[in-house]
Amino acid sequence: MLVYNRLTVNSGMLEAIEYYAFQGVFFLRLTIHQHFIASFISIVIILQLGACASKQPQVPLPESLARKHLIVDTHIDVPYRLHKLYEDVTIATENGDFDYPRAKAGGLDAVFMSIYIPSSVDALGQPGIDLANTLIDLVEGIAKQAPDKFVVSYCTQDVFAAHSAGKIAMPMGMENGGPMLPSGNLAHFYQRGIRYVTLAHAKSNAISDSSYDENEAWNGLSEAGAAFIQQLNNTGIMVDISHVSDKAFWQVIKLSKTPIIASHSSARHFTAGFQRNMSDAMIKALGEQGGVIQINYGSNFLTQKAQDYGKAVRDYRKQYSADHQLAEDSEALKSAMSLYLADKPYPYASLSDVLDHIDHVVSITGVKHVGLGSDYDGVGDSLPTGLKDVASYPKLIGGLQQRGYNEDEIALILGGNLMRIWQTVEAYALQKGNPPLCKARH
Ligand SMILES: [Zn+2]
Repeated sequence: MLVYNRLTVNSGMLEAIEYYAFQGVFFLRLTIHQHFIASFISIVIILQLGACASKQPQVPLPESLARKHLIVDTHIDVPYRLHKLYEDVTIATENGDFDYPRAKAGGLDAVFMSIYIPSSVDALGQPGIDLANTLIDLVEGIAKQAPDKFVVSYCTQDVFAAHSAGKIAMPMGMENGGPMLPSGNLAHFYQRGIRYVTLAHAKSNAISDSSYDENEAWNGLSEAGAAFIQQLNNTGIMVDISHVSDKAFWQVIKLSKTPIIASHSSARHFTAGFQRNMSDAMIKALGEQGGVIQINYGSNFLTQKAQDYGKAVRDYRKQYSADHQLAEDSEALKSAMSLYLADKPYPYASLSDVLDHIDHVVSITGVKHVGLGSDYDGVGDSLPTGLKDVASYPKLIGGLQQRGYNEDEIALILGGNLMRIWQTVEAYALQKGNPPLCKARH
């Protein structure tokens, strides 16, 4: 940008002043003929005028904020994706929502790798524990393969160190706490790097009931589940209430001595009756307890339209298979569904919907209790337009700026809130004699 101005002062003492603005820096060139002192006074006046003109707030570019501030995404399903179909995510990949080049372009600094154990596998006992170990091996493998790009991170200091070193930190969360419950397993998985635990997944497990399961085996938490919350607190592992039933949530929030997280949930306000999202009362209580809700990007988490679409598809499928007596995996049912869906495009949510959820949480409980839990690689082809992969955090930042969030607030949403809570959890465990186990000495 080049700005040129010519001012003439009547006295002729100061003939001209030119100023150039280049990237916000002003350069002055003065031409002075006589009466130096009087000219000097005039310059001061004009400089002050110039200063006023330049005080218009400069909005930083979203890309520069993405680079500057710690971006923490608390739920990305890379391990399970690679377990199903391996790809080298240290370079650009054909499939999926995550790989190193895109994460770097998006400014992602810390990605909580989800150690996801399906309820059906958890129910088998040992196979769930084995799968958890396999998925953790896989995360370690990524870091071993590209130590200049990725580092497995075990504590908040590890994450800050990775950020300073320009590497992507990979802490881990276990989605479905079942494998951690047998005696000795909590210590084992803590050693291996699990730093949050999603208590249940799609079904009631040994710890808690699930929001997706009509069979409420425990009316909330099991007895072992209640004791497990205290163990997580004392060890320094964050308690994640995404996926649990409402009753379990209200029990957890009373029991947990440290702030809890919802690692990938959105606001039920926009998706009436969808128990997997959090009600306004739950969000309020979460904020009062010091916790954070990390917004899930899946379209059915964001809009009623996507909810209704999903229900219509499920209803049609159920009806069709009953009417024609077709098995779930039959080719006839598959082709009938393809025909049905052919003229019914999926109603993708948008960036604006994600912003609506953030605004809604902020209106209930303030900006210190909301963050990002995209569920990339976990929600299939249901991501919002504009936020299709890990390269898109700057778009979200631009959206937050347009909604009027300032830089400090944006930094909290991007990762500041989650890191504050994780530090609080570490500090509580330290009081109990359990200092954080880091990768490196800090
Ligand atoms: Zn999930």
